Amino acid sequence: MSKTVSRFAPSPTGFLHIGGARTALFAWLLARSEGGEFVLRIEDTDRERSTKEAIDAIIDAMSWLGLEHDGEIVFQSKNADRHNQVIDQLIESGHAYYCDCSKEKVDAMRESAMKEGRKPKYDGTCRERNLGPGEDRVVRLKAPQSGSTGFRDMVKGPISVENSELDDMILRRSDGTPTYNLAVVVDDHDMGVTRVLRGDDHVNNTPRQILIYNAMNWDVPEFGHVPMILGPDKKKLSKRHGALSVMEYEKMGYLPEAVINYLARLGWSHGDQELFTREELIKYFNPEGLGNSPSVFDLTKFEWVNSQYMQQADPERIADLVMDFLAREVGEEEAAKVDREYVVKVVPLLQPRAKSIVDMLEQSRVFLVDVSHLHYEEKAVKKFLTSEAKAMLEELLVRFEAEEKLTHDSVEAILKGYVTEKGLKFKDVGQPVRTAVSGGAPSPGLYDMLPVLGKAQTVARIKRAIEL
Ligand code: GLU
Repeated sequence: MSKTVSRFAPSPTGFLHIGGARTALFAWLLARSEGGEFVLRIEDTDRERSTKEAIDAIIDAMSWLGLEHDGEIVFQSKNADRHNQVIDQLIESGHAYYCDCSKEKVDAMRESAMKEGRKPKYDGTCRERNLGPGEDRVVRLKAPQSGSTGFRDMVKGPISVENSELDDMILRRSDGTPTYNLAVVVDDHDMGVTRVLRGDDHVNNTPRQILIYNAMNWDVPEFGHVPMILGPDKKKLSKRHGALSVMEYEKMGYLPEAVINYLARLGWSHGDQELFTREELIKYFNPEGLGNSPSVFDLTKFEWVNSQYMQQADPERIADLVMDFLAREVGEEEAAKVDREYVVKVVPLLQPRAKSIVDMLEQSRVFLVDVSHLHYEEKAVKKFLTSEAKAMLEELLVRFEAEEKLTHDSVEAILKGYVTEKGLKFKDVGQPVRTAVSGGAPSPGLYDMLPVLGKAQTVARIKRAIEL
């Protein structure tokens, strides 16, 4: 068997959205799981709708996700001469012909076919006319009129259509441009693609494309069509379901491995396993595991997957991301004032709870602000910083100040010791202290938090709380 070459062939008419990214991922996994190659072709033939921004956006998103491709990116628009050369070859070999039927005429043919209960299609008027090139002439494939065209879909199983159902499709438009089906076949052939995995909106094109392969006497690749993604309401997935472009998730502070994992599980399974490393995905991926029914996008599950990866990630890496997100918000210069090593210590305290990098940055603010800028929530102050509590804080302050350095154990000894000594409940002491050091914002446990915050900040915050 020849080596697997699989490809992703997006049309750059917008951002890489969740559905496109999933198709790319499956095609990438197909190649990687078989030690094959993954090639990228930008189908930029629609000059009006293809933009440079969209091309960059697709490339950026693929690289953020780590879906690296082999070889140079192929731009379909650059292959127009080659496409036309193949069309000429098909004309020469009698597999294609010029047609001068006007659009009106073809529309009328289709209409009357429909009225008579036949499949609407071009009726072959010009098949045997032997026309040459000329203005307003298209080139059509001389499709077989009997028999059937079938293939074994990697996802859907055997698919077959009667050739009588297929049109003599246009290969070259009257303006000289090649059509989508022709261009895709020529490019896939020239790029050595052996397996095509794509969205099932293309399943109807496949028999037509196979006819072109056959007419050229080329090896037909294997095809697979992945069902689409639906929203929780079972309607076509759209923005309103949270189906944003891939890079929107980056901006929301998702980790790329979480996006990969969630997308992989959306339509593919391997037993009951939910979380996969990249290596595991490559090892286990098999198109047979792809489901044949549409998958439902579930934002809550996606968030859960991301939070799992947030918990597992290396704190150093998360700290860099937090610094990066901070710089996006306040500018490089301001962000550089924050001590990265300090953030590295804060991160593990927040990892069990932060759902994303944005969330992590939000939760780390209580550590990052200086005491002079710490915001004290009115409600928490009223409830927990009573005059009784302040008297307690004053006593505790002395004990904290007496320590050379705050550690998990020393903080525990001070707080527990105080509680026992005074015959109090832990929360009677814990809540005022927590309010004093965090201003009332959700924060990690005191034994973990105070050592990271450090003696100086802890003391200063307690003092400020007493003065409030
Ligand atoms: N360019 C097509 C699209 O973005 C995909 C073509 C293909 O995969 O064959 O829908």
